[in-house]
Amino acid sequence: MALLQISEPGQATAPHQHRLAIGIDLGTTNSLVASVRSGLAETLADESGQHLLPSVVRYLQHQQPVVGQSAKEAAPDDPMNTIVSVKRLMGRGIEDVRDNEFDTYKFVEQESAVPRIHTVAGDVSAIEVSAEILKSLRARAEKTLGGDLSGAVITVPAYFDEAQRQATKDAARLAGLNVLRLLNEPTAAAVAYGLDKKSDGIIAIYDLGGGTFDVSILRLNRGVFEVMATAGDSALGGDDMDAAIARWIMQQANIQDDADHAQIRRLMHEARRAKEALTDADATTVEVVRMDGSLWQGQLTRADMHELIDSLIRKTISPCRRALRDAGIGVDEVDEVVMVGGSTRVPRVREQVEAFFKRPPLVDIDPDKVVAVGAALQADVLAGNKPDEEMLLLDVIPLSLGLETMGGLSEKLISRNTTIPVARAQEFTTYKDGQTAMSIHVVQGEREMVQDCRSLARFSLHGIPPMVAGAARIRVTFQVDADGLLSVTAQELTSGVQSRIEVKPSYGLEDTEIEQMLRDSMEHARGDMESRRVREQQVEADRVIEALEAALQTDGEQYLDQAEREKIDQALSALHQVNQTEDVEAIKAAIKNLETTCSAYVERRMNSSIQHAMSGHSIEEFES
Ligand code: ADP
Ligand code: MG
Repeated sequence: MALLQISEPGQATAPHQHRLAIGIDLGTTNSLVASVRSGLAETLADESGQHLLPSVVRYLQHQQPVVGQSAKEAAPDDPMNTIVSVKRLMGRGIEDVRDNEFDTYKFVEQESAVPRIHTVAGDVSAIEVSAEILKSLRARAEKTLGGDLSGAVITVPAYFDEAQRQATKDAARLAGLNVLRLLNEPTAAAVAYGLDKKSDGIIAIYDLGGGTFDVSILRLNRGVFEVMATAGDSALGGDDMDAAIARWIMQQANIQDDADHAQIRRLMHEARRAKEALTDADATTVEVVRMDGSLWQGQLTRADMHELIDSLIRKTISPCRRALRDAGIGVDEVDEVVMVGGSTRVPRVREQVEAFFKRPPLVDIDPDKVVAVGAALQADVLAGNKPDEEMLLLDVIPLSLGLETMGGLSEKLISRNTTIPVARAQEFTTYKDGQTAMSIHVVQGEREMVQDCRSLARFSLHGIPPMVAGAARIRVTFQVDADGLLSVTAQELTSGVQSRIEVKPSYGLEDTEIEQMLRDSMEHARGDMESRRVREQQVEADRVIEALEAALQTDGEQYLDQAEREKIDQALSALHQVNQTEDVEAIKAAIKNLETTCSAYVERRMNSSIQHAMSGHSIEEFES
């Protein structure tokens, strides 16, 4: 498959040959798998008829890990070996997990960038834990569909960064799945409702799950979804409603102070049951056995519950407002609102969302299945089960596109997985005084150093008017059209001089090469950051040396006596020397030392240039 293209002409499969493809919603609380069967996308159930697989993995000694409901049930008694909400750890570094959010687990102290959790079955990373969930869903799909899977579409939150997406892909690969595409969860929900087949417009996706809230604003433009904005709250969801109800029960039953862990767990369970019951009923009976063994019974009505959860629901509205503002649109411009996540079953949530967006949200598809259904539809298309014209939906850039900057560093203008078409611009400047041309090197890849990326094209911008270093403003624009064609333009803004080149990055790079490059970028991430730091410091030193040498040549004799000059020369050669090493701190110190040594000289030059600038003018002119 060529880069930046979904399919190549003539590569579609024969119509009768249906390939088995699945869509997976790898959720924080629950995960699902769906597939298109006889033209219909539906989620697949396990042997006991359950569609939702709790995203919980329990590690045991000398045994295969247990995934799903029974792991979830064991979580309270075996918290160290039972990993819940692993999605929150995906793509995170060891620094991120030192957070108390994850303090249930015992992280292995080590130097590696990927944190590992200590369990009785050995140390596991978030990628491996997620792989267990995916393996379980894969087995379910193979059993239900009765054959080998050709590939899977896996959904990720729209805000997932490169590392989090890569971690998800790695987990899938570990689970033996061929990843056809990672798909944004909100996009999958929109696809499930067939919104991609409708006319262009703006769609808001409101996703309230167990422990997270996300809102995304998508713009559909000729079959391509663009994520205009995302917002949310990573610690807000149905669990918080359960906690509010549990607190109410404790108050009512007068068991505030003496409740132990097991009691609180039972309360949370009862609260959740009551909440879910109130989705269909107006009232429900709540029961709890007190610590002294006595039973408390009470009624919880919908109206009671509203009082308890309204403030939580209100907390979801401000991210909605923020997302609209970031997208630069008003609430009236939203054409559809899609409900996603189990907690959007709560009728009060639907009411409030409708009130805010001033339109009834789409709720026909089960909100906890809608993402998996959309993923399955997309998987069916990508596996080649649909006619060619449906293949062009949702294209993304598989590797970042960037420019070489001073010191052989790659500055990324468009990051991997950005939906196309897309245009991004950035301003650069000249490095030397009087520089009239600039050579532009376009590269592709995730690595920090240009030498580790793929070179796509080189071209030059000529005719920049001579100016001091840093004064020219060169705006470089990268534009990738819907066919994946990249064009790069560079323009010097003060003079308007322009240069342009078309680049076709789809030549030559095979999928396996992409994989290798991505793997490299993961493996080298830490080393890359370090070499970037070194290179940046060296470039800074070069700049200082060059500027000083040029100045000394013009007016060194004029402003410096011999002793001063010798000191400066010494500091200069010290910097020269240390700049051959990779010792960032030493280079920094040498620059600092040189600057101190030169300070008198710099001051004299400055004063004289001010006098020079003012000569022939009266003071008043400068004061106005
Ligand atoms: P996630 O996206 O975080 O994996 P889900 O979308 O599966 O989570 O949502 C789980 C949440 O949905 C839980 O808090 C659960 O209580 C809630 N939920 C599920 N069914 C209902 C229902 N019928 N009424 C109210 N809340 C529900
Ligand atoms: Mg979800």
